[in-house]
Amino acid sequence: MRTPIIAGNWKMNTTYDEAMDLVEELVDGLEAREESDNVDVVLCPPFLWLFSAAEYLEDTGIQLGAQDCYPVDRGAFTGAISAAMLADQCSYVIVGHSERRTLFGETDDLVAKKAAAALRHGLRPIVCVGEGLRERDAGETDATVRRQVEAAFAPVEGGQLAECVVAYEPVWAIGSGRAADGAEAGRVGALIRETLAARFGAAAAGQVRIQYGGSVTGANIAEFIGQPEIDGALVGGASLNAAEFIRICAIAARHGAGE
Ligand code: PEP
Repeated sequence: MRTPIIAGNWKMNTTYDEAMDLVEELVDGLEAREESDNVDVVLCPPFLWLFSAAEYLEDTGIQLGAQDCYPVDRGAFTGAISAAMLADQCSYVIVGHSERRTLFGETDDLVAKKAAAALRHGLRPIVCVGEGLRERDAGETDATVRRQVEAAFAPVEGGQLAECVVAYEPVWAIGSGRAADGAEAGRVGALIRETLAARFGAAAAGQVRIQYGGSVTGANIAEFIGQPEIDGALVGGASLNAAEFIRICAIAARHGAGE
């Protein structure tokens, strides 16, 4: 069975003090729970707080992720942070989040380069895919998700799949308070795995963890984690509330323990 994975995407939120308070509350709350062995927990704070967060997280089971990376290792790319630079601090990196695709014009090709750079430097990419409202209304959910998965994994090799996470995040569900229906998320999760299996074979595709993301809370996580092809969640808003995030992780951990 794949270990569930819950990742918190803090986006461009928190002051330094707020971030450290949140990390401390999360460490206390998550470490106090025995079942935390049955779930992988990843915190993705803003870049600036990664060093300090890493100190708090040392010797805890909680892992650190970045919210983005640039695929070139170094050079004249003002403002960018490379996967190479993140590799010492982080275990995971989110690539292709819909906010990056929409607000920063990221293409499928750039997302693929970011995923490849992450893997090259020993980071586990959390590759975000998902349809917008227009595509959903036009009946293009499956074609959009399939295209994004095929493109992002084009430079990836089968042996690297166990290191990869795919987050299915319907864009209309992100930050809207309108989560997708659990069964529909499970159906798209299966489509993502089939798409990977067509290229890499069923065994390799079976190692990828697939998350659902979009208005996940402690009240609805069970609906998603209960789907056979969904192995966790990428959590935005609710990850800024320690009690709520701990609740989400606890429910995922109980699922991971087979309960
Ligand atoms: C996200 O940013 O990836 C996300 C899923 O946000 P939210 O949980 O707030 O919808």
